[in-house]
Amino acid sequence: MLPQEIIRKKRDGGTLSAEEIQFFVKGITDGSVTEGQISALAMAVFFRGMELDERVALTLAMRDSGSVLDWSELNGPVVDKHSTGGVGDNTSLMLAPALAACGAFVPMISGRGLGHTGGTLDKFDSIPGYITQPDNALFRKVTREVGCAVIGQTADLAPADKRFYGIRDVTATVESIHLITASILSKKLAAGLQGLVLDVKSGSGAFMPTHQESIELAKSLVTVANGAGVKTAALITDMNEPLATAAGNAIEMKNAVQFLTGDAIDPRNWEITVALCAEMLLIGGVVASRDEGTEKIEDAFRSGRAAEKFAEMVAALGGPTDCIENMEDYLKLAPMVVDIYAEKAGLVEAIDTREVGIAVVELGGGRIRAADPIDHSVGFDGLAGLGQPVDSNTPIARVYANSDDQVTRATARIRAAYRIGEAGTQSRTIYDIIDQ
Ligand code: URA
Repeated sequence: MLPQEIIRKKRDGGTLSAEEIQFFVKGITDGSVTEGQISALAMAVFFRGMELDERVALTLAMRDSGSVLDWSELNGPVVDKHSTGGVGDNTSLMLAPALAACGAFVPMISGRGLGHTGGTLDKFDSIPGYITQPDNALFRKVTREVGCAVIGQTADLAPADKRFYGIRDVTATVESIHLITASILSKKLAAGLQGLVLDVKSGSGAFMPTHQESIELAKSLVTVANGAGVKTAALITDMNEPLATAAGNAIEMKNAVQFLTGDAIDPRNWEITVALCAEMLLIGGVVASRDEGTEKIEDAFRSGRAAEKFAEMVAALGGPTDCIENMEDYLKLAPMVVDIYAEKAGLVEAIDTREVGIAVVELGGGRIRAADPIDHSVGFDGLAGLGQPVDSNTPIARVYANSDDQVTRATARIRAAYRIGEAGTQSRTIYDIIDQ
């Protein structure tokens, strides 16, 4: 087989066989296929698309390009969640321990933030001592003994996707729903899951530009993952406003701890986290219905068992043993804390959520390039939601910064991101559940 013949076939609208896709992916992994050939195939797929069988074959070939984890020794379902990314989206921090408290196992391999979206791993990095890159033995031990372990991606997990994605990123070929599907799923499936729930965001802070494209991505992810043998469903959830009232790293971790202890729970975050967990319990066979899943997971939160699991996981992965009780000692927030007021009183009509994420990046709490260092202490809390009244006494947000200049810029960006008017927009949470 020749890579150029495979590219030609796709360029001309043909359907690639599983063997052709496996050959090409092997070449991506071992370097025998050149960067030019990889970008040419990506562009051909961008314009021609891939049939379902091709997408399944690409997903499986990229999954198998590195090691695939095996959890057969565990006596419970192995499940995970993937979010397409958003602002103030800290659900993973509460979801993994809550599921572990219900008897599921969650070996969650998560990513760092890039662009306007935050990353779960960066949030865990704000806990001193927490090891986000443990060796395989510790990862397995914590998953087995605690029931959940949130860690970072290792180099031997879907290496073909790593090279492929890097090339797509610089050749304007990321925005292909079919390539995004294979890319996301190859990494998730390499974690050896039995069930997967996808949280596909829709709205002004979402990765996909339109609601229709979010639905298309969700459908593609669900059909391909099920086609690859992993029971999968997707929730289409709202990102027209930050999910939590906090955005940043240590600050979202603090928000998650307050959620777990019941001290302060953002209602939209509760609704989405509970719904995702219930779907995961259903997919994992722990419960027989969504209602039963909802009841079980709400009990895990309200009884404090989810908080206990969280504390166990943090301690088992090298963090402090009293992270819940003494959170303020560990989660360091930037010293300048300033309320941001809108220029006029009224109701929050619209939020450019992407801009709120960019405001975090501009403070130093996110990154533009993958290798950029970040400041975990900066961010926002008290972010006003859609429909909320604001005036000269009620701020739209509070910024945590390190300098006057940062405060000035963050204030301007947040004010520009919030449209204040007469008619408050109704807040939405879950648009749809796609389970086949
Ligand atoms: N995230 C991924 O992991 N892959 C893509 O292609 C796009 C977003």
